[in-house]
Amino acid sequence: MVKVNENFAKMPGSYLFAEVRRRTNAYRAAHPDADIILLGIGDVTLPLPKACVEAMKKAADEMGKAETFRGYPPEFGYDFLREAICENDYKKHGAPIEADEIFVSDGAKSDTSSIGELFSLDNVVAVCDPVYPVYVDSNAMCGRAGDYIDGKWSRVVYMPCTKENNFMPALPEQPVDMIYLCFPNNPAGVGMTKAELKKWVDYANRTGAVILYDSAYEFFITHDDMPHTIYEIEGAETCAIEFRSFSKTAGFTGVRCAYTVVPKALVREGVSLHALWSRRQSTKMNGVSYVVQRAAEAVYSESGQAEVKAHIAYYQENAAVIREGLEKAGFEVFGGIDSPYVWLKTPDGLSSWNFFDLLLDRCHVVGTPGSGFGASGEGYFRLTSFNTHEKTREALERIVRAFRG
Ligand code: PLP
Repeated sequence: MVKVNENFAKMPGSYLFAEVRRRTNAYRAAHPDADIILLGIGDVTLPLPKACVEAMKKAADEMGKAETFRGYPPEFGYDFLREAICENDYKKHGAPIEADEIFVSDGAKSDTSSIGELFSLDNVVAVCDPVYPVYVDSNAMCGRAGDYIDGKWSRVVYMPCTKENNFMPALPEQPVDMIYLCFPNNPAGVGMTKAELKKWVDYANRTGAVILYDSAYEFFITHDDMPHTIYEIEGAETCAIEFRSFSKTAGFTGVRCAYTVVPKALVREGVSLHALWSRRQSTKMNGVSYVVQRAAEAVYSESGQAEVKAHIAYYQENAAVIREGLEKAGFEVFGGIDSPYVWLKTPDGLSSWNFFDLLLDRCHVVGTPGSGFGASGEGYFRLTSFNTHEKTREALERIVRAFRG
């Protein structure tokens, strides 16, 4: 009889968002008149930029005509998109990346969870705590994470990120091999400076580790001393793989397009990781649709850039409203400047879940408990800037009324 992957049996349930939904629905059922505002969502609300929609329509027309119809796309992405990405996201920042080091995909979630296939199961994984759960769960599913004991995986090195260290992980004291870093950070909402990131690049080059750098929120960076790509840091091309996405930048969460950069200079044990990822993608991936890639290309057009900047400004304004409202209400507030996520310390030592219940009951506002992102997230709470201006303002007015003084 077939044996199933026993690692799945070790996985805890996907507790966080299911539990958020369960408690919200229970509250709604008990209080049908409550006007509940969701500030927990990590999904965008603004519609696609017009430039992208026009590009999709044009591409769809091409697909409907015999002379311009296209079948399977190239596994690694069309040259027009790889070149646009290379020019705009790398060359403009002085990063030494070439178009053929860029692999177009359907999402940073799939790429960050698949990248582990390139590495031995013996490797030790290091993650920030709290963390985007995909990095940990994907390693647990393949058996690299060990056993789940008291809320932690036995073979994962957790790097606590709390207000005491400004949410910046410290270099690990024990040897680690695969280091997941996500900046600007989800959930803590802070960005990392070039000087800070240089320490990690030097560490990885010195020890032979590889940095798996998730830069999905790069477009939210406002500070000049924060890198837009890890390859702005000298030496990163010999130690880092970068993940980027059009999801939050251009509202592509429902369209699906992202990319991963694996530099040719990244070699471990004499093996090119670029060659391995090429091999993996050409076996497991049949490309991203032409229509979607044309939409992504349009993000880099003049009008596309103007629209995308306006969208990000809209969410940044929401983040500022959240920050200011929370401060007025007396909370300790972090993040939300270089990221769409605002991170707050729960008041009076409340647990993240107790604060969830309190906020829902007193303000009819739903956020995300920090403890759901890792043990060091206990006592913190995440609000997102992806709702509308109107709902965000209303939510914060309620919070100020409920908590001030
Ligand atoms: N990486 C981080 C840190 C995220 O927060 C998310 C989505 O919330 C993703 C990746 C997923 O990106 P994509 O929509 O491209 O799969």
